[in-house]
Parts: sequence; structure tokens; C-alpha cells
Amino acid sequence: MKALVKDKPAVGLWMQDRPVPEIGPEDVLIKVHKTGICGTDIHIWNWDDWAARTVPVGLVTGHEFSGEIVAKGALVDGLTLGQRCSGEGHLIGKLSRQSRAGKFHLDPATRGIGVNEPGAFAQYLRLPAFNVVPLPDGVDDEIGAILDPLGNAVHTALSFDLVGEDVLITGAGPIGIMAAAVARHVGARHVVITDVNQTRLDLAAEVADVTPVNVAQEDLKAVQSRLRMHEGFDVGMEMSGNQQALDQMIDSLVMGGRIAMLGIPPGKSPVDWSRIVFKAITIKGVYGREIFETWYKMIAMLENGLDVRKVITHRFKVADFAAGFEVMRSGLSGKVVLDWA
Ligand code: NAD
Ligand code: ZN
Repeated sequence: MKALVKDKPAVGLWMQDRPVPEIGPEDVLIKVHKTGICGTDIHIWNWDDWAARTVPVGLVTGHEFSGEIVAKGALVDGLTLGQRCSGEGHLIGKLSRQSRAGKFHLDPATRGIGVNEPGAFAQYLRLPAFNVVPLPDGVDDEIGAILDPLGNAVHTALSFDLVGEDVLITGAGPIGIMAAAVARHVGARHVVITDVNQTRLDLAAEVADVTPVNVAQEDLKAVQSRLRMHEGFDVGMEMSGNQQALDQMIDSLVMGGRIAMLGIPPGKSPVDWSRIVFKAITIKGVYGREIFETWYKMIAMLENGLDVRKVITHRFKVADFAAGFEVMRSGLSGKVVLDWA
């Protein structure tokens, strides 16, 4: 089969012929239809310090996918050949305290497809049947291919009650934009999204009914007064990984505000803890998706009118994968989807 492989410790990915994966009794084999390019894949392409530390050379990359089940192990129940699906890319252990409590997303032994284990940028993917998420007819293959990052957005957005709340999202990357759409869908009052990249703010305004703010040019406090917000945002979602964005968020929250933090700051960064204490702020770190509650809620919302399709700005045949990665690396895109048909 064709697969996109990290074949050398250098910048890039290479299309290679690889054997179709063998499956065990509890696995399925998925024929991949479409895949999404993630920020993580860009780290792997760029071969930065994190990637060099984490990803084994020779790995088939990719973790955002949709496809169809074409083979299943002898012990697999409840799934049929031909079933369209996506799936959770975090392969969890079942022995830890948190796993045994049913909180699978908190298992410390988690391994990621396309990061630690063979991934989905391939014609075929082996996946434990446990990880498969069947797709209803209303969720097509290209939306199926971005459920992993939409799941990050949904997990973050549903961390705190948003009904009637004023929400600040820092970072209008694909995940921030989708989180804004989710916040609107579930009934937030004002949803303000910040960035320093105008292209992405324009995209945010196209995807959802939100107030985009370019913090390099506009004063966030002035926007708050314009919206007649007197005391500050109730809930913040940090989705930039940028230190200044987090500082601005803490500054802009109401007393007792809550922050769900998905963005990953590079290395250590200084935090003014006294402001967090005196404002009585709650911060929740968010990792991955709740397995499988996030998947359930996200598909239910998609079936009930949540529309994030416009966040997909570019579509390529997989033969043109290099062009897809180039667009992603430019920072001038939303989601980029590759077609493996
Ligand atoms: P992205 O890099 O595409 O988007 C981040 C955006 O933040 C960019 O558009 C950038 O211009 C913007 N930004 C930079 N400085 C800013 C500032 N001062 N104020 C406001 N915005 C600013 O990222 P993404 O793919 O949308 O992911 C969002 C974040 O979530 C990233 O940090 C990513 O590493 C992280 N992430 C975490 C998990 C997890 O499980 N915790 C999963 C996926 C992604
Ligand atoms: Zn991803």
C-alpha cells in the first residue's frame, strides 16, 4: 500500500510502498478515504525538537482520518464490513487507575497513531475495534476526517457551562475556530476570538457568528465595552499556546472566571500566579478527547446543525500531499484534507 512515511530524520515526509498492516483478533482493518493534516503533522514534517524526541524514524504518520472497515478480527463484535467510520487515535491501556475508572482519556500509557504507532496517512490502517467510531450518513467523509480536531474543540468547549456566558477564545487556528462554532451552537452569548493572523480571523467570521479581534491592531478592552460587557469574560478557551494570549485572557476574565487550556506553550513560560489567585480563576488542562463521550456529543451536535465545513479551506489528492503541507505551513489555511481514493 501507499503510505506517507517519516523515512529520514530530516524535513519532509515521503510516499512509500508499505505492506498492508496485519490485524489481531480484536482489531479492524480500515481502508482510508480521507485524512486531515494536523499541526502535529507539521511538527513531524518540520522535524523539530519535539518530533525528533518523540517520533521513530520509519513511522507511517497521520492520525485524522475517515474510511471504511474492510476486515475484522475474530473477536470483533458489533461492527460490519463496509461500515464507514472514523476513530480515536489514542490507543489506551486498560490497567491504570483512571482507565479502570472508565476515564480512558486520562490513561497515562496512551500511545498515538501517527506519532508513536503506525498511522492513518496510508491506504490501510490497523485500529483496535474499541477505537472505531461508526459514522452516521449525515457525517460525510471529509467531516469524518476532521473529527479528531473537532473533538479537541468540543472537549475544550464543553469543559464549562457556556449557556448565556461570554466566551473568549485566544487563537483562531482550526481548533479555536471550531470551538467558537461549538460555543455558539450550545448557547453562549458573546463569543470573541482573538489572533494576530487576519486571514484566520476572517475565516473564523465565515465559519461562525463570532466577534473576531486582531489583538495586534485592536484593544480587547474596547471590544468588551462595545459589546457592553461590564465585568469580563466568564469562560476562556486558550487555543494558541502563546504566552501573551494567556496573559491577556487572565486579564480579561471576570472574578471567578474559568479557563480551559488546550494550547501547548513551547517549553516553560512565566505565569503571574498571584493574578490567578486574586481573581479566583479555575484552569483546566485539556488533552485529547473524552473517550467516547466527546465523540458522542460531537456527532450529536453535527446531526443537530453544528456546521464546521467552512473550516476546511483546501482539498488535495494525496499525490499532491506536498502542496497540502505547504499550505498548512504557510499559516494561511484552515483545515487541509487529503483524498486517498
Ligand atoms: P494553530 O497553531 O493552527 O493556531 C494557533 C493560532 O494562535 C494561530 O493562528 C496563531 O496566529 C494564534 N496566535 C499567536 N499568537 C497569538 C496571540 N497573542 N493571541 C491570539 N492568538 C495568537 O493551532 P491549532 O491546530 O488550531 O491548535 C490550537 C492549539 O492547541 C495549539 O497550541 C496546539 O498545539 C494545541 N493542541 C493541543 C491538543 C491537546 O490535546 N491539548 C490537541 C491538538 C492541538
Ligand atoms: Zn490532530
